[in-house]
Amino acid sequence: MKQIINEMTITFKAISVNEGFARACVASFCVQAEPTLDEITDIKTAVSEAVTNCVVHAYPKKEGDITINVQLFDDNVVIFVSDKGVGISDFARAREPFYTTKPNEERSGMGFTVMESFMDNLEVFTNENKGVTVKLVKIFKSKNQFAVGV
Ligand code: ATP
Ligand code: MG
Repeated sequence: MKQIINEMTITFKAISVNEGFARACVASFCVQAEPTLDEITDIKTAVSEAVTNCVVHAYPKKEGDITINVQLFDDNVVIFVSDKGVGISDFARAREPFYTTKPNEERSGMGFTVMESFMDNLEVFTNENKGVTVKLVKIFKSKNQFAVGV
């Protein structure tokens, strides 16, 4: 089993001013693993999409928090972005490109597609009214010659 070399957790309000904070915070934590610029950019993009989803969709009727847990391993990082909001009743549908429940707010329905294509793995744990946890995995290719092409 691979060992976690560092870990951090942050919790903050689900408001849009925190999107940039969350993205920068996760990126700066990952820098110690010496990722490439492309890898850092990919991580920032995926975290942005996950956090924006919590801000936009999770808490339509009340305020709530977002928690991000980052686990750094030797050659990869695992990032959990969680809310305790309304959840997603049909995730198979929600992950389809161009599917959005907010077409009138200029949402394109591409958030999950972006997360999936910029990261090496995406898993989503959700239940209606029990919130959403998005698990994002990025493999640091420069650190793992066997991972090329993963
Ligand atoms: P875009 O990301 O392109 O602005 P979008 O947010 O609607 O548009 P996705 O990020 O792919 O698209 O999400 C698809 C749908 O999944 C959303 O429209 C919303 O209904 C649901 N969803 C996503 N994240 C959450 C969340 N954290 N809580 C509740 N519903 C969510
Ligand atoms: Mg989205």
